[in-house]
Amino acid sequence: MAARSGSEFLGRLAAARVHVQIQGETLTGGVADHPAFRNVVRSYAELYDMQHDPAYRDVLTYPSPVTGDPVATAFLAPRTPQDLVKRRQASKLWADRSLGMLGRTGDYLNSALMALASAQEWFAQADPRFGENIRRYYEQVREEDLLCTHTLIPPQANRAVPGSQQAAGSLMAHITREDDNGIVLRGARMLATIGPFADELLVFPSTVLRNDPADKQYSFACAIPNDAPGLRYIAREPLDYGRPGHDHPLGSRFEEPDAVVVFDDVHVPYERCFALGDAELCNGFYLETSAVAHMTHQVLTRTTAKTEYILGLVSLLTQAIGIEQFQHVQADVAEIITTLETMRALLRAAEADAALNQFGVLTPAWAPLNTARNLYPRLYQRFPEIVRKLGASGLMATPTEADVTGPAAADIETYLQSATLGGADRVRLFRLAWDTCISAFSGRQALYEYYFFGDPVRMASAYVSGYDREPYKAAVRAFLDRG
Ligand SMILES: Cc1cc2nc3c(=O)[nH]c(=O)nc-3n(C[C@H](O)[C@H](O)[C@H](O)COP(=O)(O)OP(=O)(O)OC[C@H]3O[C@@H](n4cnc5c(N)ncnc54)[C@H](O)[C@@H]3O)c2cc1C
Repeated sequence: MAARSGSEFLGRLAAARVHVQIQGETLTGGVADHPAFRNVVRSYAELYDMQHDPAYRDVLTYPSPVTGDPVATAFLAPRTPQDLVKRRQASKLWADRSLGMLGRTGDYLNSALMALASAQEWFAQADPRFGENIRRYYEQVREEDLLCTHTLIPPQANRAVPGSQQAAGSLMAHITREDDNGIVLRGARMLATIGPFADELLVFPSTVLRNDPADKQYSFACAIPNDAPGLRYIAREPLDYGRPGHDHPLGSRFEEPDAVVVFDDVHVPYERCFALGDAELCNGFYLETSAVAHMTHQVLTRTTAKTEYILGLVSLLTQAIGIEQFQHVQADVAEIITTLETMRALLRAAEADAALNQFGVLTPAWAPLNTARNLYPRLYQRFPEIVRKLGASGLMATPTEADVTGPAAADIETYLQSATLGGADRVRLFRLAWDTCISAFSGRQALYEYYFFGDPVRMASAYVSGYDREPYKAAVRAFLDRG
């Protein structure tokens, strides 16, 4: 098997028996056709179809080193600047398709797996089998083009104590026992976006673990088939309300579910374990393998696509209602352009300063990527605010498709016309703006951009503590000493 098509993706999902709790209903299959998921699942299927479209396939795939068949570009371990560019172009093609709204397309975690598997010898420090396991697992995901989700953080019960100390350590997913074949997991992790329709769940480390015996049972990294016995998802209320694309242009296509993950004695065979009982290894998981750099390279590519969308939307909106000439409007548009150009410059700097890591993988420079991941969560929050400010009452003059095509059609065409658009077209544009800045879907997008990569407050702390400020302190001291 190689890069999947949309129907292959849907076919596998149809056979999966993923356990999902949603709105009082228990699903053990049929996720692809459930109203909460069917539209977003089809948007994902379109992305898989793109891998076979002659217009995109050369960018989206490369020949498998094992079979020669095309596999997804996100699995390509970059050795040359051209490889890095190809990886970015592939992510951009997918991101453009959803206006940057789909955060968990396969390329996000496939990039992590590529970097982790390339760092096979780093895993082998603890046990040579872990090195073998991560390589074999990556190859399986690549050859079968599986869709992964991941879950990292402990339940949010009491952040005043480490996750391992909440409710006497029983809440946070932990290893309860080991047998001849593997480990058994019990407890929960807070969230997995797209959990209900992924093929695989990566249970990876996140919070800093203490290197003492008490944290041993919480220190692990493994992968679980999404319909493994004992694995359950508790999904939040869906924000796709089954409305037509005209009315909810984004929510009806790109609503990625989030779900709490419960492990009820889930057995994980040893060959699916990549680290066990080693807090130090878990704490270095992303940085020392360069996985975080490749993930952030994908994220920055996606958020650039999203910012381009916001700029296009706001430009059409300001043009439509004739407000482009006002200076404060221009200041808001300039703010979006500044964000866009900053993200582009950081992406370019990360690629220009890329260097081979110790495992021979060309790795985008971390400093510009780290800057981007510290900036964007805050900068994005301004976008819905700007769209609300500029759209004003127009965001409430947004009748539905049934009205636009119904008895009110003539009134809408006349009274909702704008400087550049007829009434029906103006409504379509403003409904898109509404779904970007007011709907529940847009609220979740803002929350996602703020938090999905970690708490910006703690990312800032990590940024400061990892940044070498000695040269700058020395320069100031030297100035003071100059007399
Ligand atoms: C839409 C969405 C999708 C997500 N998808 C996934 C996913 O697929 N997989 C996954 O693993 N995770 C996912 N996450 C979780 C994400 O990683 C976390 O939201 C993020 O790490 C912050 O943790 P938290 O939500 O538990 O916030 P908390 O840690 O509970 O923080 C709550 C507030 O308290 C403050 N606070 C708490 N502890 C401290 C501290 N020690 N120091 C300073 N301030 C503190 C925070 O700054 C914040 O303001 C997702 C989150 C969202 C919102």
